Amino acid sequence: MTEQDSTAGLPGELPGYLPVYSGKVRELFAPISPDTGLVDQSRLLLVASDRISAFDHVIDTPIPDKGAVLTQLSLWWFDQLADLVPHHVIDTTVPDRVAGRAVMVRRLRMLPVECIARAYLTGGGLSEYLATGHVSGVPLPEGLEDGSRLPEPVFTPTTKAPPGQHDEPMTFEDVEDELGAALAARVRDLTLGILARGNEIASERGILIADTKVEYGVDPVSLGVPDDEDVDWATVDPDDLQIVLADEVLTPDSSRFWRASEWEPGRPQTSYDKQVLRDWLLSADSGWDRAGGQPPPALPDEVVALTRARYVEAYETLTGATFTVAAQQSSPAQQ
Ligand code: ATP
Ligand code: MG
Repeated sequence: MTEQDSTAGLPGELPGYLPVYSGKVRELFAPISPDTGLVDQSRLLLVASDRISAFDHVIDTPIPDKGAVLTQLSLWWFDQLADLVPHHVIDTTVPDRVAGRAVMVRRLRMLPVECIARAYLTGGGLSEYLATGHVSGVPLPEGLEDGSRLPEPVFTPTTKAPPGQHDEPMTFEDVEDELGAALAARVRDLTLGILARGNEIASERGILIADTKVEYGVDPVSLGVPDDEDVDWATVDPDDLQIVLADEVLTPDSSRFWRASEWEPGRPQTSYDKQVLRDWLLSADSGWDRAGGQPPPALPDEVVALTRARYVEAYETLTGATFTVAAQQSSPAQQ
């Protein structure tokens, strides 16, 4: 067990599970059958740690309960979106040690695109617009500023870069080259649909969702391509396959949530997400130089507390439920 694991709310090792992937925030484990000792190829235990990343760096200091907030909020949204798109969750019964922060999911072949939709302009999209007048190849009207609502939501995908590298913007034509026209259109429409539904629901709770990122996958069996072989996505007909919403959805890690009552284009917005952390990292207080190549420093207690509070507030405002850490039951048989 690494020191980071032990401080990020993770168990390190999970008896009966094989670690298969460690992302910036999540750990994936494959269940091992107690009867045969064989690794289950069809399911994964997806465990959200308390790690937080910013500017593509994982920060040394974890945010307590963040993994549970992300997992519980994604579960809630998967339900709200179920008529638009099937999701990957099979079971919320998980080992006690990861209760609340883990779900059992269908093991999918993930599409090699990060699907982003924006309803408002800020962050990387704003920088691109100011430099070029476009975002991901979509021309936008003149005069937009930080926080402007877009005339209509746009699909602004990026590559899914391997660990350590940065995701690069893709135009829709790039996505068509990678996925084929039919699959590209399908994930664009689904992503815009998720953001629209998200905003419909969030607006009733005083929240604007400026932008969001989702990931999709397909069942590898229906795809018929062995696990160790590359998929030629352009030859795949989306009507023959089920496109499944995976990973997480409409959380403060994957989305920008703003307070609707305080929204005012032309300045940074009050947000429920990582903005507290990003602002501190870029301030003189952190002593960190983003361009300097050094990892970011550890976080002061106030930044940790404020970030945790914002994540919990987002969960509670959206779902109307009170956040409790052990929000799901675990099965004694799987401890
Ligand atoms: P990013 O910051 O872009 O989210 P990451 O890899 O660091 O990248 P994590 O969320 O920490 O992200 O890791 C989760 C990983 O699990 C991602 O690579 C995601 O594509 C993958 N994943 C999520 N759901 C499934 C699934 N149902 N089947 C297979 N892989 C999945
Ligand atoms: Mg992720």
